[in-house]
Amino acid sequence: MSLRQKILLLSFMAITGMFLTIWLQYGNFIIQTRAVERVSANVQTVSALSGAVHELQKERGQAVTGQYQNLDRQFRHTDAALDTLEKTPVPLPGFRERLDAVRHSTLQQSAGFADIRLEYTQLLRQLLDAMDTLTHEPRLTIAASDIDAHRHLIEAKEYLGQIRATLGQILESEQPEPVALRTLFSLKGLYDEQVRRLRGKASAELSHAFEDKCRDQANERMFQALEHIMAHGVVPTSLTTMGWWTTSSMVINNMKSLEELSLEIIRQHTHEELSQLQSSMHVGMAVVSVAALAVLFLTISATTSLLRALSAVLSSIDRIVRNQDFSSRIPTRGPNEITHIATTFNTLLSLAEALIQEKETLAITDPLTGISNRLQFTRVLDDEAARKRRNSTPMALIMFDIDHFKRVNDTWGHNTGDAVLKEIARIVSAGIRASDVFARWGGEEFVLLLRDNDCKAARIVAEKLRQQIEWHPFPIIGNLTCSFGVTAWQPDDDEAGFLARADKALYASKAAGRNQVSCEKHGRLDCSSDGLC
Ligand code: GH3
Ligand code: MG
Ligand code: MG
Repeated sequence: MSLRQKILLLSFMAITGMFLTIWLQYGNFIIQTRAVERVSANVQTVSALSGAVHELQKERGQAVTGQYQNLDRQFRHTDAALDTLEKTPVPLPGFRERLDAVRHSTLQQSAGFADIRLEYTQLLRQLLDAMDTLTHEPRLTIAASDIDAHRHLIEAKEYLGQIRATLGQILESEQPEPVALRTLFSLKGLYDEQVRRLRGKASAELSHAFEDKCRDQANERMFQALEHIMAHGVVPTSLTTMGWWTTSSMVINNMKSLEELSLEIIRQHTHEELSQLQSSMHVGMAVVSVAALAVLFLTISATTSLLRALSAVLSSIDRIVRNQDFSSRIPTRGPNEITHIATTFNTLLSLAEALIQEKETLAITDPLTGISNRLQFTRVLDDEAARKRRNSTPMALIMFDIDHFKRVNDTWGHNTGDAVLKEIARIVSAGIRASDVFARWGGEEFVLLLRDNDCKAARIVAEKLRQQIEWHPFPIIGNLTCSFGVTAWQPDDDEAGFLARADKALYASKAAGRNQVSCEKHGRLDCSSDGLC
């Protein structure tokens, strides 16, 4: 896998991961919202259950005390509360059938009060158990404590209802039955337990309201009577059936008003906590979205700029390698790692270019004298010859050779001979124009190409050089001379013929006694100073 593919894959993974995070966060948001909706629905259900429990308790109270005259109206109230409850998702299998049955038994008086009370109590237990499962929303703790407190309040009220009925029965009988008394004590214990739990869970507002109601006169009367029975095992003589029902009903009504307050507190706390939860979820989503957008932007911009820079560098390198163009450079932009690579590569290119240049120079330079060598001279001559064939302007060639150079070597050694070769190259280089091409042809033989010069001008140059060398005092050896051959480019000439004619003229100078200039033109040689050229 290429680096580009890896970068693209990495970017794809980063972007996918980011969308996954947003999606998960959104999923969490949806779950929380649904849980919140369930809590709201549960609060309504709790309210409906409270209403149904209250009405059923009243119905039970009337049914077990034989108050048949108001029972029809109470049935309608209970049914209305149950209709409201049935609009909620609370499952109440067989509830209505059992209720109809117990009502029938009550009206027909086909069952004793104790059985009727037991049946009503079981129906109430079914409602309370339904509330128990409903009030626990597993995902959220919103108003959980308030809902628990409400549940204990209703349970406590239910036990009060049972205490009212039980003591009502005791008061009806001549002599308190031990079983009835034990039931009363156990109901009082259950009530106390629910009150203890209520105090542990209730909010400050509900606690205050509950303690206020506890200080109520009716409440004090009711519990004083109960404590008396529990302490002495007998009902206080001052307590009448009517008085008991009035007092205990006031206490139960107080509990009902506490229930309404508790429902209001639950609604208020639920609303506050839901608002807080929703706003923190909105903030969370906003933060995650902004972070995700920043990551997306950074990923895309980093990836594209990296890939663009990589592409630019790679295409520049490709072009340089394909064209072998070591003089061009990779464009560098911005202070990043790719620029650093490009700059380093450019440095390498500069080194390569310098090495190639040096190699080129060495290939065309005579190592001893530092002037052009035969290879370079031949190249330049080929180029110039091609040009002359097109525009037929003049061009001349001077070839010269040191006279009796062997003697120099033989007499003063090769090093002195080398020094002489260098000195002559220096003298000639200093005496010619920049447009002239001067080269060592081989051994102690040199060539000089004069662009745009005819034979006559070349002869003058050769003569000037001959004299300069002749008069130059060479270290160690003193004086020496050179013989010159001159020729000019002909319209239908070629390089080999051009060189051969200069060579021929040079040998003519040698043959004529050395230290002179000869000119070759149209196959004729002239060695005189005012010759044919
Ligand atoms: P002539 O006047 O006929 O040209 O006589 P000459 O002695 O110059 O000619 P010859 O061809 O006999 O000798 C050329 C000598 O040049 C022989 C060779 O040793 C010497 N030579 C050639 N190249 C070099 C070089 O690079 N350095 C030195 N020191 N001598 C060289
Ligand atoms: Mg020689
Ligand atoms: Mg020679």
